[in-house]
Amino acid sequence: MNKKKEDLMEKIVSLCKRRGLIFPGSEIYGGLANTWDYGPVGVELKNNVKKIWWKYFVQEREDIVGLDAAILMNSKTWEASGHVAGFSDPLVDCKKCKTRHRGDKLIEEKHGVDDVAGIKLEDVQPRLMKEKIACPHCGAVDWTEAKKFNLMFKTHQGVTEDSGSLVYLRPETAQGIFVNFKNVLDTTHLKLPFGIAQIGKAFRNEITPGNFIFRTREFEQMEIEYFVAEKDWKKKYEEFKESCWKFFTEYGLNPEKLRWRQHAPDELSHYSKETYDIEYRFPWGWGELEGFAYRTDFDLKQHEKFSGAKLRYRDPETNEEIIPHCIEPSFGCDRTLLTFLIDAYTEEEVKSASGEKETRVILKFHKDLAPIKAAILPLSKKEELTKPARGIFNSLKSHWMVQYDETQSIGKRYRRQDEIGTPFCVTVDFETLEDKAVTVRDRDSMKQERVKIDELVEYLKKRFEE
Ligand code: ATP
Repeated sequence: MNKKKEDLMEKIVSLCKRRGLIFPGSEIYGGLANTWDYGPVGVELKNNVKKIWWKYFVQEREDIVGLDAAILMNSKTWEASGHVAGFSDPLVDCKKCKTRHRGDKLIEEKHGVDDVAGIKLEDVQPRLMKEKIACPHCGAVDWTEAKKFNLMFKTHQGVTEDSGSLVYLRPETAQGIFVNFKNVLDTTHLKLPFGIAQIGKAFRNEITPGNFIFRTREFEQMEIEYFVAEKDWKKKYEEFKESCWKFFTEYGLNPEKLRWRQHAPDELSHYSKETYDIEYRFPWGWGELEGFAYRTDFDLKQHEKFSGAKLRYRDPETNEEIIPHCIEPSFGCDRTLLTFLIDAYTEEEVKSASGEKETRVILKFHKDLAPIKAAILPLSKKEELTKPARGIFNSLKSHWMVQYDETQSIGKRYRRQDEIGTPFCVTVDFETLEDKAVTVRDRDSMKQERVKIDELVEYLKKRFEE
């Protein structure tokens, strides 16, 4: 990463800390590497990411229903899914300083994502040596052979620690959907094609997490398993692919920073016949934002085999029993949040009240994503202003997440709200006492409008619909 891009990430990380979006995890104990906690503003943003996703893919579609499955699952699930045998990354050790690294990522950092896709385990170390790729920690070029490192976290359930009590923290939410396929089908009237959506935590013992919340060991996924008849998979795949793209662009991501990247045949996961990723141009280069896989009938078949349960769909017209095929859009919630955050980050040169040039930092979020929708700011701490301002806050709070703030100068308060992406600031001034109106300042244009207090809710409703 060059210096400017590093600066951008530094600025974003520091803004997140300063304004209560994201804090380093376990900070008072010196932290725990690559863990992050969402603060008062960040949790609102994260909830909004989930809300818009759920609205777009579940609420507004008749063919997709939701689910919330447990994180801990019978370990056979992970044997059936192939994760016990194959969910691993190539681990290499630096012989000099003994640090451990993900070999394919070291090569990828040098050459970009396409070059390393599907690299074989035995080719990782020779390439590192041949291309003189140095250890990021000590600079030596002295690597061990690459080994498979399984990414699943293991733990034990109950009071004993024998192999019978072994459970995994789920590395993806998808399997919770497959094992509930029959339950959902039996309790709904869904007809093919239909989907089951789930948002929830997933855990991967990543060898090299990093880039803030881009890659962490604990994260949230937003996944859909969309079941189709085999003959329809391609058509449905293309339709769904388009709606995933629209999801990101309709909620404001710059399409010029997005692209589809198809997985090469030797890069495909064991279950997939076709996979595309939506990638975003992050400050450090292109990176996966969403995986979009055609999983065939692999998972349902495997679970039939390992559980003995029948996971079939009876075609209401032909009465034929089939195992549906499956299309899987898999989004990272934290990664989606990070992408919206980076994309929304804007710096503008403005003139201060005293005429000096200064930089205005704004998170230009789509209004549905903005953590706080409006801030109510009395111009003075005198009761004659704080009283009506509190009244306005009370009348808005049942409609939206709003904030009341009477501390510091109005300029500082505007800056604070710009930095967390609040679309509107509502200022109560001494004129309010005369005209029963307030000034509404627009985050992006900084234009101010005088609005009657009685009409404020309707006015804001209209503005949110624009
Ligand atoms: P990568 O190649 O980056 O390791 P992957 O191909 O293993 O990712 P998938 O299994 O396709 O990722 O996971 C689906 C989505 O879950 C990803 O597109 C990403 O948004 C999110 N995701 C996966 N791993 C992580 C992680 N360690 N931290 C945060 N988000 C993740």
